[in-house]
Amino acid sequence: MASKRLQGVPASGTVALSNLVSLMKMQGRDIISFSMGEPDFDTPENIKEVCKASLDAGFTHYTPSPGIPELRKAVASKAFSDNKIHCTAKNVLITPCKHAIFMSALAFLDPGDEVILPDPSWVSYEACIRLAGAKPKYIPTNFDDNFVIDPNLIAEAITPKTKMILLNSPSNPTGSVMPCGTVKEIANIAKENNLTVLSDEIYESIIYEGNHHSIAAMPDMFDRTITISGLSKTYAMTGWRLGWAIASEDKIKELDKLQTHSISCCVSFTQPAAVEAITGPQEKKDTMVREFRRRRDLAIDLIEEIKGLDVNVPKGAFYLFPRYASKVKSEILCTKMLEEARVAVTPGSAFGPSGEGFFRLSYAASEENIREGLARIKTFIQNL
Ligand code: GLU
Repeated sequence: MASKRLQGVPASGTVALSNLVSLMKMQGRDIISFSMGEPDFDTPENIKEVCKASLDAGFTHYTPSPGIPELRKAVASKAFSDNKIHCTAKNVLITPCKHAIFMSALAFLDPGDEVILPDPSWVSYEACIRLAGAKPKYIPTNFDDNFVIDPNLIAEAITPKTKMILLNSPSNPTGSVMPCGTVKEIANIAKENNLTVLSDEIYESIIYEGNHHSIAAMPDMFDRTITISGLSKTYAMTGWRLGWAIASEDKIKELDKLQTHSISCCVSFTQPAAVEAITGPQEKKDTMVREFRRRRDLAIDLIEEIKGLDVNVPKGAFYLFPRYASKVKSEILCTKMLEEARVAVTPGSAFGPSGEGFFRLSYAASEENIREGLARIKTFIQNL
């Protein structure tokens, strides 16, 4: 029997769906998948070459638990140049992004603490919060405001138990990007109420309109913020499981303590390749973002032709979050869509109560699949 802590937490909806789609494809079923949030591009060649060379050079043993010094330094320089976050290598822990979120919850939350987060938001935040014994407090966001969180609602939700605000911009699943003014207002609320901020910025470089603003760069915010990002989405490196946390030295020490008791360190031979990803040529990354934008526009045009679906234009990430007209629960709709239309999308309810009535479509897929998949969705929705 699993622990009581784990019994209350479902498996990841996104990963479970991706496992199901892989199984169906292995059985020879013709499925078009818009389920998993991962670029369909290959990792750029220069990055793979450095990884191969590291293996050949025998760089196959443990590294220091917080990561190799060159990579910590490269991340700190990138944080300064891209995010205006003033930090040094000592403020960086190399760790898989999801593990960074999991460890941040374990390290900085106590049972009974409350965490404020946008609704809808990525499936694993609630699970990490609950596994730490804390409680998620969802702040609804809505279609008409492009799913941008309202700082006034955050301020109203604060109680003596509130410990943390969790942010994710650009957002998974809505693609919304927080404007600078919103980030500033949230920073002020965090300071006034002495709250920790956990800011997941994994989609930071996939932005089509506007700019990315790191809350840790706002005045007096660095010491209370844990900024998380990584290589998965920016460089099409999801399978490498490589990211980082940036925070004050004392917070990094606590996270590193957990790292020493969990994974010890990240995979050794991938770390020099991560240095190459961050410091090497960036053209491939820019090409991928341009291509995502083209696919976003194509998918939106095709969805706008479907009666019964509404979609807004997200400014970042690679997700669309269409609203459908029927009263059917999103989990049932998506199961039927997979069985009848052979298209996999993630039910909106997996991302929180405000996600009901929506589904998430990842357009990090080929143009051919976007066209064929949306033609199938059109027939399916019109026959509902
Ligand atoms: N973050 C991606 C998604 O939402 C990958 C799967 C996961 O880790 O949940 O699809």
